[in-house]
Amino acid sequence: MNTDALVIGAGLGGLIAARELMEAGHEVTVLEARDRVGGRVYTATFPGSSTRVDMGAEWASRDHHLALGAELRRYGLHFVETDDPELRTWRLDGRIRRSAGGDDRGGLVNSEQSELNDALRAMKTDVQALGFEGATESPSADRLDIPFSDYVDSLGAGRAVNELILALAFSFAGGNPDDYSAWMLLREMAGYDLDPEALFADDYRISGGSSSLPEAIAAELGSRVRLGVHVRSVSESDEAVTVATSDGAEITASAAIVAVPVNVLGDLQFSDRETSAQIEALGGPHAGAASKVWLRGENVPGRFFGVSWPELPEVYSHPDDPGLLAAFGMPAVLGTPSAESMQEFLGDLVPGVTIDAVFEHDWINDPLSRGTWLAGRPGQFRPLAALRDRRGKVLFAGADLDTGWAGWMDGAITSGGRAGRQVAALIA
Ligand SMILES: Cc1cc2nc3c(=O)[nH]c(=O)nc-3n(C[C@H](O)[C@H](O)[C@H](O)COP(=O)(O)OP(=O)(O)OC[C@H]3O[C@@H](n4cnc5c(N)ncnc54)[C@H](O)[C@@H]3O)c2cc1C
Repeated sequence: MNTDALVIGAGLGGLIAARELMEAGHEVTVLEARDRVGGRVYTATFPGSSTRVDMGAEWASRDHHLALGAELRRYGLHFVETDDPELRTWRLDGRIRRSAGGDDRGGLVNSEQSELNDALRAMKTDVQALGFEGATESPSADRLDIPFSDYVDSLGAGRAVNELILALAFSFAGGNPDDYSAWMLLREMAGYDLDPEALFADDYRISGGSSSLPEAIAAELGSRVRLGVHVRSVSESDEAVTVATSDGAEITASAAIVAVPVNVLGDLQFSDRETSAQIEALGGPHAGAASKVWLRGENVPGRFFGVSWPELPEVYSHPDDPGLLAAFGMPAVLGTPSAESMQEFLGDLVPGVTIDAVFEHDWINDPLSRGTWLAGRPGQFRPLAALRDRRGKVLFAGADLDTGWAGWMDGAITSGGRAGRQVAALIA
């Protein structure tokens, strides 16, 4: 089979890239290994109920994720505001602190509050020095490319404040702070108006669940999207790109966009030596490793938000189903979640709750993701940029490689759009 352009992966990045090519008048084929589109955007039904839950991407910033906002408008979707929690609970420095609504800063006592303010001021200086899109070239880049936990220790705050910062940062860089780079987290804060106050920002959901968007784009692409096609290798010659799939088929095109998660690139064979060397230069997977577990229970408080470091950096209630909670954690801490184990981890964080069912997608052991959202390790930001900046007949795209909102749905859209336009220009 021959086509103008191939796109490997039907996540948001690949779908947007393909739509750009289609709109430029090119024949494009998207090859997706799963039996669904969306990749790490996946809205599913909680077993035994009709409630839809986002197993992957769920949150976005209406005021900053502008590419995502534009896509939602295009398909008649919209951002959904989150009501403020009625009850917030934090377990910091081993102590439970509760607040009925208002306080979103960890229920800190006065001396801790001033430590937090000092820490945020110091972070802000580094955030401003780093910047957002240009952070790779910033003179501060190497100094800040250290484990985030070391960076937080260097701020000089006490344990409760450190734990609050580490827990809130998990929503942005979901991984072990010993493993991911402070560069990564601080650069992201730069995207939010150069201010680490973003750690406390309110986010928005997508109407109908996050999968509504990739499904709408795929509907526009129609039969150009082929599901259940697992790509094994990508070979380049002077004239063409040939892709081999797991069922032995070969597809040839003038150019290809590889829009799979960075953590699975090592499973693909590339004929081009420089490409293989660039993938090897990453030195292994990024550190994005989060468990996102939906819990059904009795006595779930309405509109709840909780933090317990390090077991459960984020717990919140479902917006429509009063019996459901989402809980985030590190897989190394949570293990394989069960109702019993999650009940134990929650302890007295959620007063009076009894958990009787859990539901999660294991993104870490899923061979088509091998991780959650991007959290670059120290030393990875330059090799990631090298892959992103590659030119030629084979380009790399996706949220993990965006110059802006890397790791987010918005980054997948921006990166896919850019790669689609580049390939369209190349083969025109
Ligand atoms: C638990 C979790 C929570 C998240 N929360 C948020 C959030 O709240 N907000 C937010 O904006 N983002 C969030 N993200 C991140 C967001 O989902 C991703 O960054 C983004 O969707 C990635 O899009 P992508 O197109 O780059 O990659 P993917 O969505 O991973 O798409 C890549 C596609 O490639 C396919 N593929 C892989 N290998 C092959 C192969 N060999 N052959 C063919 N196909 C292949 C995969 O099946 C997949 O469909 C979250 C992610 C996870 C996992």
